[in-house]
Amino acid sequence: MNTKKSEKIYESACRVMPGGVNSPVRAFQSVGGNPRIIKKGEGAYLYDVDGNRYLDLCCSWGPLILGHSDPDVISAVKNQIDRGLTYGASTETEYRLADFIVSKVEPVESIRFVSSGTEAVMSAIRLARGFTGRDLILKFEGCYHGHSDHLLVKAGSGLATFGQPSSAGVPEAITSQTAVLPLNDDEALSGFFKKNGDKLAAAIIEGVPANNGLLIQSHEFMRMLRALTQKYGALLIMDEVITGFRLGIGGASAYYAVPPDLVTYGKIIGGGMPVGAFGGRADIMKKLSPLGPVYQAGTLSGNPVAMTAGLATLEKLADGKIYADLEEKNRLFVSKLNEKLDGWAVNLSGIASIFWIVFQKELPRAADKIDPDGIAHFNRMHKVVLDDGIYLPPSGYEVCFISSAHTEEMLDDAAEILAKNIRNEAHRWE
Ligand code: PMP
Repeated sequence: MNTKKSEKIYESACRVMPGGVNSPVRAFQSVGGNPRIIKKGEGAYLYDVDGNRYLDLCCSWGPLILGHSDPDVISAVKNQIDRGLTYGASTETEYRLADFIVSKVEPVESIRFVSSGTEAVMSAIRLARGFTGRDLILKFEGCYHGHSDHLLVKAGSGLATFGQPSSAGVPEAITSQTAVLPLNDDEALSGFFKKNGDKLAAAIIEGVPANNGLLIQSHEFMRMLRALTQKYGALLIMDEVITGFRLGIGGASAYYAVPPDLVTYGKIIGGGMPVGAFGGRADIMKKLSPLGPVYQAGTLSGNPVAMTAGLATLEKLADGKIYADLEEKNRLFVSKLNEKLDGWAVNLSGIASIFWIVFQKELPRAADKIDPDGIAHFNRMHKVVLDDGIYLPPSGYEVCFISSAHTEEMLDDAAEILAKNIRNEAHRWE
């Protein structure tokens, strides 16, 4: 595959941007090889500046549930652009998007739009602290909630740890108010609440943890988390930046039948534009300025172009047909590929239109159960698969997404290419 133009542009980009990118994983450091410089996205395909075409299984990390350049979304956006890009004042479109979400997602009685998932989570945490008058927050190992200071905390396995920032530049004074527990561990959870429950402002969890592999939680664990937060007067924040409108209209809270107090959104609700949102119980949302004492604001929040893209996307998803179709396509793809690789040291897990390629026999439910050797297999495979025209996210810890533009035939071809390359990379189970 000729990638000369990509290489040249990337080299120049490295001179003017750290690592040549505006978000670290795009630099392909874990998988090696050169990041492709993209010129166009159409349907299920990405096209780079050298004219190569890739079947896109990353879908911009989740937002593009309708694929690239969906004609209805593009036409709505063009129509809005003709009337201006931003007003710094309210529009009917932001009200309509808010109303769409509030009327369809039960736990969301009131919502505020921001410009990214990070901002949504950061604001929801402040609101939870303001509402409860408590400082402590609880997160789970392997869950990513954006890059705000108090959530950039990892933990060792086993016991709760406090305050180990996982990035330079994050003060321990801030992360000392963040507790971290292993996922799907009932005992650790109940022990933590017994000791700290009455100091806790909120527990935050990804709807389905999908930033460190796909760690599908048991229904029991999710119900226990809901029950304990309620018992101790702490809020439950469901971070649905990935799962919101991906698992279905009701997201993960409907999938688990676990209603959170606050929900955070991003990705799909912006239809490919930079949008985030947080919402939930009206009595909590009333604490937000201008009504209440918790301050939160944004120059471009509720931007009309972004709201238009989001609304056009959600309206197409409203009747649920796309979800049913996506789920069936994903299920077929995962089972066909698993069949082709029967006996080989690889496994595929999937939920809704998300799948994860994992080089280990037992599908993990917690971060410390992920085999780093398996991740290394993925990382080696990535480059060869890319040269065969399949665009996977550039890290073995990342999940893949399909869109309504991916046809069964495209996915069959992808399964063939993946199977061939995985067989080259993996060994047979003994
Ligand atoms: N929460 C979750 C669950 C996410 O997956 C992400 C991004 N991948 C974020 C928050 C942060 O969103 P953003 O990148 O838009 O800031």
